[in-house]
Amino acid sequence: ERETSIFSKRTSKSKEAFEQSRKVLLGGVPMSWMSKWSGGYPIFFKSARDSKISDLDGNIYVDFCLGDTGAMAGHSPGATVSAVIERVRDKGGITTMLPSLDAVNAASALSARFPLPYWQFTLSATDANRFALRFARQITGRSKVLVFSYCYHGTVDESFIVLDNGVPRSRTGNVGPAVDPTDTTVVVEFNDIEAVRRALSTYEIAAVLTEPALTNIGIVLPVAGFHEELRRLCSETSTLLIIDETHTFSAGYGGATELFGLDPDMITIGKSIGGGVPVGAYGVSDAVAERLLADQEADLVDTGGVGGTLAGNALSVAAVAATLEHVFTKEAFAKMIDLCATFEQGVTDAFFEFGAPFCAVRLGARIEYRFTPSPPLNGGESASYGDDLLDQYFHLYMANRGVLMTPFHNMALMAPTTTLEDVETHTNLFKEAVGELF
Ligand code: PLP
Repeated sequence: ERETSIFSKRTSKSKEAFEQSRKVLLGGVPMSWMSKWSGGYPIFFKSARDSKISDLDGNIYVDFCLGDTGAMAGHSPGATVSAVIERVRDKGGITTMLPSLDAVNAASALSARFPLPYWQFTLSATDANRFALRFARQITGRSKVLVFSYCYHGTVDESFIVLDNGVPRSRTGNVGPAVDPTDTTVVVEFNDIEAVRRALSTYEIAAVLTEPALTNIGIVLPVAGFHEELRRLCSETSTLLIIDETHTFSAGYGGATELFGLDPDMITIGKSIGGGVPVGAYGVSDAVAERLLADQEADLVDTGGVGGTLAGNALSVAAVAATLEHVFTKEAFAKMIDLCATFEQGVTDAFFEFGAPFCAVRLGARIEYRFTPSPPLNGGESASYGDDLLDQYFHLYMANRGVLMTPFHNMALMAPTTTLEDVETHTNLFKEAVGELF
């Protein structure tokens, strides 16, 4: 009871700041999701470095939330900060409506780890997905898209849809939608390849947009053969396959695309690649690029609908180039994944020790506790197994003792700067938390 209602740690300055912020920030937060933390008010942070965050009261937290992946590089990684300072202070110029060489370096770094040759930049992963869907409709001349239930692609109108007992409906939180996603979108369960087959043979679909594994309703891994068959069905029906790597980049150096051997027509990504600086990107295959450029040349397409004044700015692309080259190295991923395996071992040992009927699911450097004996197969299963009270219990148990997990579910992410000591801090607390329950 106590753990699920309020912070018991001393956070009076955050509470005070929240009282003030409610007078000028809608709901007291600069972005609505920041109110999702359990505890009645968000912790206001003062500073953040590597794997740690300090709050206004001087509490220090080991941060496994890492900005819900936006800070997977760790907070203010040295190489990114140097590149940002060099751009802003030494060279000068952030927004110029002219390309910089850093943009070339950033795109080259993306091409070096994802199997697509051409890239452009946006300000967020949401924008990257919106533009990828526009391109797909343009190229195919088809209007509908297919997504998987509880796959999340940002606040993109067409992807704000889930299956509710087999019936498509707008996702909770779809505030004032511009379009009804049940008109624009076909939605099926992840891992249900028969449903994909039926959908692609029934409807004219421009693109399938999917994460390689679901990561926003807990982690749901693909079953063997799912992605291979998905690729085959897309090729057979000339449907474009768009892989959203925004969260699954945590799977390894080349993301889940490399881990699962995927062969997408487009990739969308954002969050972590800028080392915390706002940025998104989309990559396209040779065939997609050729078609888009030919259409532009023939004046069939005016690309005014796929851009943004601040997109591709010199600051964002300098951050991407530095983060990919110096922070997310092969060695860094090996360390992150290794630590996450140790984290997983700690969690499963605790479940075993106390006979808790729970499990953990891990994809590379990202892990989630599940309050079910075995992992779910799709988004619907995952949503119906959710236990909000248990989620809150673990969030607050951890936050009250100096460990932050992702607030939307019990997910932890390792940064290149996460230490074994950080993981052990979590393991010890986690054992206590499970022990108090069982
Ligand atoms: N794609 C995936 C897989 C995501 O998880 C998210 C955000 O959580 C997005 C896209 C959208 O990212 P952003 O909110 O930074 O635009």
